[in-house]
Amino acid sequence: MTLGEALTVARGKIDRLDARLLLEYATGCTHTDLLARPETPVIAPAWAQYLAWVERRAAGEPLAYLVGEAEFRGRIFQVSPDVLIPRPETEVLIELALARMQGLERPRIVDLGTGSGIVAISLALECPQAEVLAVDLSPAALAVARTNAGRLGARVDFRAGSWFAPLAGERFDLIVSNPPYVAAGDPHLALNGLPFEPQMALTDGADGLACIRAIVADAASCLKPAGHLLFEHGYDQGEASRNLLTAAGFQAAFTHPDLAGIDRVSGAHL
Ligand code: GLN
Repeated sequence: MTLGEALTVARGKIDRLDARLLLEYATGCTHTDLLARPETPVIAPAWAQYLAWVERRAAGEPLAYLVGEAEFRGRIFQVSPDVLIPRPETEVLIELALARMQGLERPRIVDLGTGSGIVAISLALECPQAEVLAVDLSPAALAVARTNAGRLGARVDFRAGSWFAPLAGERFDLIVSNPPYVAAGDPHLALNGLPFEPQMALTDGADGLACIRAIVADAASCLKPAGHLLFEHGYDQGEASRNLLTAAGFQAAFTHPDLAGIDRVSGAHL
């Protein structure tokens, strides 16, 4: 079997780009190798790995889970089915957080529901003067996040528990979160590989706002004066988020769109 034949085998089963990436991961060859030397033989174990991945991808399993990693903000993060796959729209949360930490000498930041750790680790690396904590309920997710922090050289203090529970008495300049915000029964949960992702990271099992309500309700008591809260949410949750923030005593509640122009992050400050 050759590289060229491998791509032919996947035709009509999976996306061409996915086939190319899976072949590169299975064989260790580069895109240039595929183009320049399609006659290169593929050794048996790599061929078997590739064929198995093609079948699983054809059945809807996300590519990131097959190869065990995904990119976010130019960095490669390890992922497993215990954590959500990084979404590009979460970059908005990072940009807004970094802007608010500018000029602070030693800001304290906490990421609630860190999952693979992309938010906490990106902030720790891009705002090196910050002290970053990250919380998750899932020990399996925390193990992935710790591995990512170690590999990428980020200093993050990881804590196990529910939202603010492991933070008793501590105060922060910024609370960030990408909580589960898809409503139970949303048809979206059955599409685009979401059935393979951890449901506890996607949906609150209720109306989609339950975790956001819990975070907003307790945030003020964990923030320093003038501290900020920023969180990601669904396309139709901007107004409800701003109302929750204002009702909890926050100032200047706002909603920011993602790169597709969809309401994605809301926030406010004390
Ligand atoms: N944005 C994700 C999706 O709709 C959901 C992420 C989340 O719930 N935090 O697929």
